[in-house]
Amino acid sequence: MLKWRKRCFRCLQYLRDDGTCQNQKCVRYTPEKGETTSTSNDSSTGADAKEKAN
Ligand SMILES: [Zn+2]
Repeated sequence: MLKWRKRCFRCLQYLRDDGTCQNQKCVRYTPEKGETTSTSNDSSTGADAKEKAN
């Protein structure tokens, strides 16, 4: 049941799903891709919804 996960060959920490090291102290560390421009629809059209509710 346990899914085998790859480990970093430098620090032996488990890698992320995309195969990048998440150990910040490791030389192989790769910053996580934040700043996602995903289209989340929360609080974007809040005013509009309120008007309709009224
Ligand atoms: Zn590493």
